[in-house]
Amino acid sequence: MRTGSVDPARLFKEFSPQAGDLDAGRRDVRDGIHWLGRQGFLRSPDATAARAPLPYLVSLVRALAAASLSTAFSVWSQCMVLEYLTLSEPTSETEPLLEALRSGRVMGATALAPAIPAVGDSAPLPVSAELSGGGYLLKGTIGWASNLFDSAVVVTPADTAEGRIVAVFRLASPGVQVAAPAPLLALNGTGSSSVTLDGVRVAEAAVLSWDLPGFLAACRPTMLLLQTALAVGVTDACLAAIGADSRVPPHCPELDGRHQRVAATLSGYAEAPGSAGPGGLAQLRVDAMSVAHAAAGLEMAAGGGKAFQAGSASSRRVREAAFLPVQAPTLEHLRREIARTASA
Ligand SMILES: Cc1cc2nc3c(=O)[nH]c(=O)nc-3n(C[C@H](O)[C@H](O)[C@H](O)COP(=O)(O)OP(=O)(O)OC[C@H]3O[C@@H](n4cnc5c(N)ncnc54)[C@H](O)[C@@H]3O)c2cc1C
Repeated sequence: MRTGSVDPARLFKEFSPQAGDLDAGRRDVRDGIHWLGRQGFLRSPDATAARAPLPYLVSLVRALAAASLSTAFSVWSQCMVLEYLTLSEPTSETEPLLEALRSGRVMGATALAPAIPAVGDSAPLPVSAELSGGGYLLKGTIGWASNLFDSAVVVTPADTAEGRIVAVFRLASPGVQVAAPAPLLALNGTGSSSVTLDGVRVAEAAVLSWDLPGFLAACRPTMLLLQTALAVGVTDACLAAIGADSRVPPHCPELDGRHQRVAATLSGYAEAPGSAGPGGLAQLRVDAMSVAHAAAGLEMAAGGGKAFQAGSASSRRVREAAFLPVQAPTLEHLRREIARTASA
């Protein structure tokens, strides 16, 4: 097992020099994903296990986020697609994709965001699937997805006449059109854009689930804990920069303590997600984002004028931290969930 053997210093050395270029879109995340795949980081440390252990993935994403949120977010997407594919029994359609994703040769894109508010909601999903010749034809628009490169493996929810499915298709399939990415505040090298689907054929064996709520519930701990790891990694980098760069150490005795508590809870939940209790995973992610924002702001204040320069790592981290609550489930989704569980 390689669990716990992620070497943050090695990953920082590898990914930190490219973080500015990835953020600005002067290069994209593919080389980094290929490198991680070649080094074996995207597969389970236990070669006999189909799924990598959550504590290992959390430590990987956290370490990468401290170096480059673009890379870490792209790895989050890759890990989530692997999670979706390994939640169900492998089929003739899904089995060959696993090795391609683990090796980093093919990118994984998740388009589940619209399903999160849509569960328990009768509003239609943006993608529909029409039964056709033993499979389905997908139509509609995916508003946002990332890792949209080459022939990425894309997982999307869709409405059928019989109910909601989760389906997988390749980005290079006929009928798929990827919009040119618009300039973003951060993470410009992540291949984030929208996708139009016009009669994209998926085989029956490419349907991962006919139970969308059950599917989302099953992948939720991994999704939320890896998203929390993104925030914790950004905070790690901010606090390290404050410690290393500040002429005057800022007075912030409580921030370090909050960070330590969030990081310890993250490790505990990664070992035993069931210990989180109702609303616990959502609350942890909200807390982690709040600490990351405070840390990025403090790093800016402590760094002075050089931190405020557009190309500085400090200003990049302020923009990276700004992305965290935008990721679905968004901050507002999480707050509503926490309020619901508190009143239940
Ligand atoms: C750079 C980037 C990369 C992204 N990558 C991916 C990806 O890989 N995969 C993916 O699935 N998505 C991705 N997204 C989309 C992201 O996860 C969110 O779904 C999206 O930002 C939410 O906003 P929206 O644009 O859909 O806006 P809207 O739906 O208009 O929502 C605006 C805000 O209103 C609130 N809101 C809306 N509806 C509800 C509701 N029912 N309950 C509570 N609050 C609500 C939310 O806080 C939301 O942020 C990406 C977005 C960005 C900016």
